[in-house]
Amino acid sequence: MTNTLYDALIGPHHDNTAPFLHLGDGTQITFAAFCARAAQIAHVLSDHGVGPRDRIVVQAPKSAEYLALYAAALQTGAVFLPLNTAYTLSEVQYFVDDADPALIVCAPDTAPDIASLADKRPMLTLDATATGTLSTAANAAPTGFNTVARGPDDLAGLLYTSGTTGRSKGAMMSHRNLLSNARALTDLWQITHADTLIHALPVFHTHGLFVAINTALLAGAQIRFMASFNTDAILHALPRSTLMMGVPTFYTRLLADPRLTHEATSNMRLFISGSAPLLAETHRAFTDRTGHRILERYGMTETNMITSNPYDGDRVPGTVGHALPGVAVRIRDAGRCTPTGDIGVIEVRGDNVFQGYWNQPEKTAEDMTEDGYFITGDLATMDATGRVTIVGRAKDLIISGGYNIYPKEVEDVLNALPSVLESAVIGVPDPDKGEAVVAVIVPTPDGQVTDADVQAHVSAHLAKFKHPRRYVTMDALPRNTMGKVQKTTLRSDLG
Ligand code: ATP
Ligand code: MG
Repeated sequence: MTNTLYDALIGPHHDNTAPFLHLGDGTQITFAAFCARAAQIAHVLSDHGVGPRDRIVVQAPKSAEYLALYAAALQTGAVFLPLNTAYTLSEVQYFVDDADPALIVCAPDTAPDIASLADKRPMLTLDATATGTLSTAANAAPTGFNTVARGPDDLAGLLYTSGTTGRSKGAMMSHRNLLSNARALTDLWQITHADTLIHALPVFHTHGLFVAINTALLAGAQIRFMASFNTDAILHALPRSTLMMGVPTFYTRLLADPRLTHEATSNMRLFISGSAPLLAETHRAFTDRTGHRILERYGMTETNMITSNPYDGDRVPGTVGHALPGVAVRIRDAGRCTPTGDIGVIEVRGDNVFQGYWNQPEKTAEDMTEDGYFITGDLATMDATGRVTIVGRAKDLIISGGYNIYPKEVEDVLNALPSVLESAVIGVPDPDKGEAVVAVIVPTPDGQVTDADVQAHVSAHLAKFKHPRRYVTMDALPRNTMGKVQKTTLRSDLG
């Protein structure tokens, strides 16, 4: 029997006695032990009636057992559907109703509440210490399981988008979608079995699950597996690791600690950033402090990764690099490719692009072009070499008095002020201009931001129609767990 993703990621490790996961308590799990555990869990899944095409909803804390459940889901031919642990009961209700899962796996403390909405579906519990009902049942199961056949076009995952611009949409990911991207990234970033990856990301998102775990499994790399981001834990792991994948806030938090130095990072081969824009300023500060040039890449739930800065060659701050091998990227506006350097929407085509939105064929059709490109909704420019620079999301574009205003351009100007740590520029309804520009400013800890200074600076750098009408100061921008600024929240609070 062949199973595209399982055979490529997990099958080759059945007899691999090298460590795969290094856990926070100092214990290790070998690749072989991981495969055996996945097989035990696969038995539990199939005993609960899970088979090919069935969705398994998982809302549980990050743990080694969680990863084994992912591998087990692949082995049974099921479709893995991880949920953000922060989702409330009513949010979980939406996902369960939408995805119609055959099994729900949740943390023991939320089980009574989730049972009330499960509509008699089978449920199992999973906690960080592997003592839930899933683990107990798995302990008694055989360590071999007959892998269920699945082909490249079958679904392996149903991943919901982060919900930054509206209600989360279920992205149907096939075995081919996930494997092609894992291969492209492993090759490009030169990940091998000699690597040890620092993993402090959540495992319910494409970044922490597919980008990080699939590439490590494909390459046979080891993982320092951490429950969440903790500066002390990362600093402790750096001398024993070679690779880190993080969101931009990981890098700003590390930079805030004086222990981040050349010496502390001398064993590291590569730092990668994605999921939200990395400020050029952060990129430069990191290089000054450590000598490492962070490699920024860009992707989304629906497409896996799309572009990356090069491994060898220029990693240009503020840019997301070139299309991955096997991925076609173009920038279009009003149905035509924009001239080099002009702003348009990023469109992408390739084996990485999803099979459509779950239960939403109209939305899928709306977001695909006639020639098979997915319309990302991200605005960008492309230079003559194909290097992409993201300027924001189409949904965040401000149209004021008939003029297009790109928030990032205004944010870049504000961020250049020494007293400004970061900023977010949004459009709010305005009876006269349609939308008015509002700037939210987070001052540096010792920074004094005065309206007069900011206005003088803005006047010197931006045309009048781009000037914010109102400035609001905040201690921090609202962000989700992936470090994405929640502009929808700002718009509803300040509009
Ligand atoms: P939703 O689609 O539900 O509104 P979302 O788009 O935030 O939520 P994800 O799929 O997690 O959900 O995020 C993809 C988006 O993240 C991209 O479309 C892009 O806007 C942003 N992104 C990812 N990487 C980068 C990057 N390196 N620089 C700038 N933006 C990035
Ligand atoms: Mg999106």
